[in-house]
Parts: sequence; structure tokens; C-alpha cells
Amino acid sequence: MPVDVEKLVLVKYPDPCLRKICEDITVFDDELIAIAERMLDLMRAHHGVGLAGPQVGLLKRIFVCNPTPDETGNEMVIINPVIGETSGAVVAEEGCLSLPQVTVNVRRAQRCVLRAVDLTGKPFSKTIDDLPARICQHETDHLVGKLILDYQSPADQIANRRILKVLEEEYRKLGKTRRAR
Ligand code: ZN
Repeated sequence: MPVDVEKLVLVKYPDPCLRKICEDITVFDDELIAIAERMLDLMRAHHGVGLAGPQVGLLKRIFVCNPTPDETGNEMVIINPVIGETSGAVVAEEGCLSLPQVTVNVRRAQRCVLRAVDLTGKPFSKTIDDLPARICQHETDHLVGKLILDYQSPADQIANRRILKVLEEEYRKLGKTRRAR
């Protein structure tokens, strides 16, 4: 079924699509390019460093990222990613565009190998570290329905309890038409 690209908008917690498993992308066409451009626009509009398919209601293995959101030129479109060969471990605070104002201290590999394909379906692999590695691990989590909430310590849970309640209430108010998927 064709995707209405203009209608893709940022999806927030607790929308159930954030917990779904995404499918590999197998068709590399103009629609995929339009989806990627739309996702890049939404990421920029929300000043994010990354945005994954489920965050726009699309259950496909795609994410966009930009470790330097204040400058253009470093944006990447990553399709069918697999994280391999990890090393090191760093704990750092993360946020998520689908969980505004929520922060969680997440332990991630400092370095990893990212295997994926580009917009033409061509495979590539690269070794990445520090912030790009963190972003790619966070976004790849999204593609299997995993959120930073799953890494919360008891202290994080207490700190985030109130804002999660607010997000749940806002989602209820969205109404059925908006969230029908
Ligand atoms: Zn996220």
C-alpha cells in the first residue's frame, strides 16, 4: 500500500507502534526516497539527532540521523541496520523525540560496526564510535520496539514518572481518528 508521505508525523509515547517489530525494506524506489526526505525534515524540525521508522508510524527498518543537528551535511539514511562487533561501554544520558522531556542513563557500546544498505539498496559497513555509535544503537533499538524506558534505573523511573503520566494523558486526548493506524 502506498505511503502518504505528507501525512507522516512524529509519533509519541505511548503509541503502540513504538513497540512493534519492523520489517526489512526490500523495495528501493522513489517512495523510499520521499519517506527518507520526510523523516529528515521531521528530525530537523524537532532538533533531533535521530528518527526511526516507528516514530513516524512506519513499521520499516529505516532511520535517519545527524550527530551534529546544528549543521547540515552529516545527515545519514540507514536502512536494514544490524549492529555488530561492539566494544567498550559508556553510560550517558539519552532523550528521544517520542518521549519529550524524558531522560534515561543508558549504557551503550562505545564502538560498533554498523551494517546496513543505502537508499539504492547497496550494502555498506562502517565502524563508528562515541555519539554516532550511541545514536545508531538507540535508533536500531526502535526497529525492534525497544525504547530508552527499557533501560531505566529505579531512580530514572521515579524521575520520569510524572512526565510519562502527562504523555499518556495527551495521547488519550488525541482521540481515535488521529491515532488510528
Ligand atoms: Zn528515540
